[in-house]
Amino acid sequence: DELISQIAAGEVVERPASVVRELLDNALDADATQITVRLSAGGVRLISVEDDGAGIAPDQMATALKRHATSKIASLAELEAVGTMGFRGEALAAIHSIAEVALLSRAGDQKSAWLLDGRTGELKPAARALGTTVEVKELFYSVPARRKFLKTDATELAHCIDAVRRHALARPDVGFAIWHEGKLIEHWRAHPGEAGRAQRLGDVLGEDFLAASVALDHRVGPVHVTGRAGLPDAARSRADQQFAYVNGRFVRDKVIVHAARAAYEDVLHGQRQPVYVLHVTIDPARVDVNVHPTKIEVRFRDGREVHQAVRHAVENALAAPRA
Ligand code: ADP
Ligand code: MG
Repeated sequence: DELISQIAAGEVVERPASVVRELLDNALDADATQITVRLSAGGVRLISVEDDGAGIAPDQMATALKRHATSKIASLAELEAVGTMGFRGEALAAIHSIAEVALLSRAGDQKSAWLLDGRTGELKPAARALGTTVEVKELFYSVPARRKFLKTDATELAHCIDAVRRHALARPDVGFAIWHEGKLIEHWRAHPGEAGRAQRLGDVLGEDFLAASVALDHRVGPVHVTGRAGLPDAARSRADQQFAYVNGRFVRDKVIVHAARAAYEDVLHGQRQPVYVLHVTIDPARVDVNVHPTKIEVRFRDGREVHQAVRHAVENALAAPRA
């Protein structure tokens, strides 16, 4: 079972940023409003994600580290309409098999917090406010072959920050902080309400992006596309400025990328690498998120309807007369 877990871990955890993404998903699933990420050595030595969410009951903490332990899906029918970020119950088990994991958590009905040392299995009372801290140390310590593939700490750190940035753009109502080696390196405060999305965009991608981009909001049949598309002068030095979300989940999707690129080709004749943040909202029954262990790929029931909606949304926004 140890071996099976390590193989599964290989699919879920490629690098520290993969761990960050999974822990952020869990914190958001627990309805956190404030999330703090602490890293050491680009996340290889330490990743700690602290939230103020619902917490884990002490008798559920050991279970949370086991394979296929999920509190989020009770049936196959629910899998169809999954609304939470996680649902496979694989992430913590996978991480546990290739790193030292500790859970510190206090659920709403507990008089104290509890600390589970994943290595020894020891569970003891501890101090903490409501919520959960998941600590992951020495990633890939037991899999030196994997550890060798990691890049420099600076590169791994950059990937970790990207992972937080992706979540932060999707959830302006949640506050995020990133610390590295004890230094605060990013802090995006929570922006509740309708105006929050634009505010968070400015915080994360810069006020210059906000100024050099146009809002889009377009519906074609069952597909609703919102977000912002950058004008040619919005391209900054960072190459990776394409953010696509499906029902709030960050995705890498060929249909969306192709549709957006086609729109940029049409309107701006591909002068620049497109820069955009796109949120596709669609009936969950029309998209399968259970395609890839990391859930970063999705499969649409009808790719054409999504392609058309995204393309039109971006084209309309770029072509609209501007002041
Ligand atoms: P999944 O998210 O797919 O359910 P995970 O392995 O990521 O599986 O997590 C296992 C379980 O541990 C979750 O279903 C949840 O019950 C619990 N859990 C993990 N992280 C947190 C957290 N930050 N707050 C509350 N519960 C958590
Ligand atoms: Mg999860």
